[in-house]
Amino acid sequence: MKNKSLLIKNGTIITLGETNQIIQDGALLIEGNIIKKIGKSSGFKDIEKSTEVIDAKDKLIMPGFINTHMHFYSTFARGIMPKQPAAENFVEILEKLWWPLDEILNEKDIYYSTIVQVINGIKKGTTTFFDHHESQGVQQGIMDVIEESVREIGARASLSLGISDRYGKGKEGIKENIRFIEKINRHKKITKDEIVTAMFGLHALFTVNEASLNESVDARKSLGVGFHVHIAEDLSDEIISKDKYGKSVIKRLYDAGGLGENTIAVHCVHLDDEEMYILASTNTAVIHNPQSNMNNAVGVANVLKMLGKKITVGLGTDGMSPGMQDDVRVANILHKHNCKDPRVFFCESCQLLLENNAKIANRFFGKKLGELKEGAYADIILVDYLAPTPLNETTFFGHFLFGICEVQVNTTIVNGKVLMKDGKLIHIDEEKVFAESRKQAEDFWKRF
Ligand SMILES: [Zn+2]
Repeated sequence: MKNKSLLIKNGTIITLGETNQIIQDGALLIEGNIIKKIGKSSGFKDIEKSTEVIDAKDKLIMPGFINTHMHFYSTFARGIMPKQPAAENFVEILEKLWWPLDEILNEKDIYYSTIVQVINGIKKGTTTFFDHHESQGVQQGIMDVIEESVREIGARASLSLGISDRYGKGKEGIKENIRFIEKINRHKKITKDEIVTAMFGLHALFTVNEASLNESVDARKSLGVGFHVHIAEDLSDEIISKDKYGKSVIKRLYDAGGLGENTIAVHCVHLDDEEMYILASTNTAVIHNPQSNMNNAVGVANVLKMLGKKITVGLGTDGMSPGMQDDVRVANILHKHNCKDPRVFFCESCQLLLENNAKIANRFFGKKLGELKEGAYADIILVDYLAPTPLNETTFFGHFLFGICEVQVNTTIVNGKVLMKDGKLIHIDEEKVFAESRKQAEDFWKRF
């Protein structure tokens, strides 16, 4: 299926990529799912009449955002009453909210949880999601439901199911990961379609026993994928690992054969120097989730130190939001506050989201993401933004953090297809989906 060509003109193009270029009065031609040509609007006069045109006057034309750690299944937690008395620490948060929640999710709950997050993400300009799913009550076949939801909206996604032995269902989770990854690999081979890809998910090492870990490593190697796994989110993960296995979490995963450039280690709040060294030497990416870490009061990941050791650190939201705007702003101020040093993390917060998330996504998708250039996937957003001060390559990060993140995303395009225009999803009745979601959530809350 080939989409027809689409010209976006008269906007300010922000290319991002290694050398971010800002093109005033810029235009960009999409053919199929690819960016065909990019430049000044004046260079596209001859094709204007023969193609569909979007006028981007007073708008920025940017790559869509990439969220490298998300939990679609968290939706029905919004407004829920967790088990009482209130959780006092991270493990209790899992035991009183997330584990009981994911244990009773059914297929319909998961379908609506996913679709509303994807819709909200598209509205915030997120075009690629790395989702980590958990539903201990229903695992077999469940990844198809999430895939269906994501495809219904048209977002790009890497999907994974976090396996866990906390209820003795590790084997079932491994089976579902293998089934789903094999299906996606077959599909990719036949259609070359990469809108949905898959990774092998592990919940966290403190709930994955040795047998399951070894079986998962064997499976992920033969399937040619990496792990999407929570690492040292709370100090308890490290304490349990050292008590039970006599080594740190990262050392245990490394010894098992679970690290490498196609694995993403999420959080990494409590790493020692040896663990950072292992992550750097295996080129394993780390995903920082500042809002979630603050919300769970688990501590602050030493991202500056990791970046200093050349670890590729990306930015996720851990279910706090499908959009990236809040986490990038929080990253900037959290590390300043934590270091008591206002000089740090202004550039780094932008680097995590705009450079490193693209680098990470490019390990998993065949064509360029996170950059507007010829030959890249046409995952593009238009943002309503009138710059109140000069906007150029030097001033861009300031505009991004303190202006662009605050304004509306007007249009979202994924894989060459316009999914949202003037703030409205085009192919789906949002009100109907949200009404159904509320109904389903009410039913879910009664079961919780
Ligand atoms: Zn998470």
